[in-house]
Amino acid sequence: MTYQHQYVDGSVIDLPMGKVVCVGRNYAEHARELNNPVPTEPLLFIKPATSVVPMTPPIELVQGRGPVHYETEIALLIGAPLSGMVSEEEAEAAIIGVGLALDLTLRELQDQLKSKSHPWERAKCFDGACPLSPFVPKAEAGDLHTLALQLDINGERRQSGTAAEMITPIVALLRHIATQFTLLPGDVVITGTPAGVGVLNPGDALSLAIPGRLQVDTRIAG
Ligand code: ZN
Repeated sequence: MTYQHQYVDGSVIDLPMGKVVCVGRNYAEHARELNNPVPTEPLLFIKPATSVVPMTPPIELVQGRGPVHYETEIALLIGAPLSGMVSEEEAEAAIIGVGLALDLTLRELQDQLKSKSHPWERAKCFDGACPLSPFVPKAEAGDLHTLALQLDINGERRQSGTAAEMITPIVALLRHIATQFTLLPGDVVITGTPAGVGVLNPGDALSLAIPGRLQVDTRIAG
């Protein structure tokens, strides 16, 4: 399934799909549920463009590599280059859309790789590992630092949180990333997951929302 950035009204955003920059353990409660220490600075990793698929067709789970876990995250679409020391205003102005991502993770494989101090790309970067929703235009997204997010599976609330709980808030996170490597138009930053992560099963019905702004209903194939 080819992916193209688009807004919630269906209009195409004329930017290539770049990299997906991810932050681990940005909600303290989620770090604790996986028995991870709460980091003192953002724990960054990258998913490649090839991991991105649209969220709305049935999501195909990668087969034969162990259980696939969901992490629901607020996603930021970058519309201007950010590199080096950038101001709060520059960082905020670079965001052109706000959406939702599923940071799909082969958790057992990730645990094995972590226990050997190996990189965890094989657990996070497979094709289809990053379903992305359409984006709400930034001007309609309201205050980024109070955005809520939630995930229901088969009618049951599994995850809920707000950007106010992030250890590194959205604008500070972009400023930090820019000091480490360049963000380009078409890149996406996903901002960490609240507590409640778990396994996905074939046939699961998923309902994800930024309440009042974005609602995505999808399901797991099979
Ligand atoms: Zn994540």
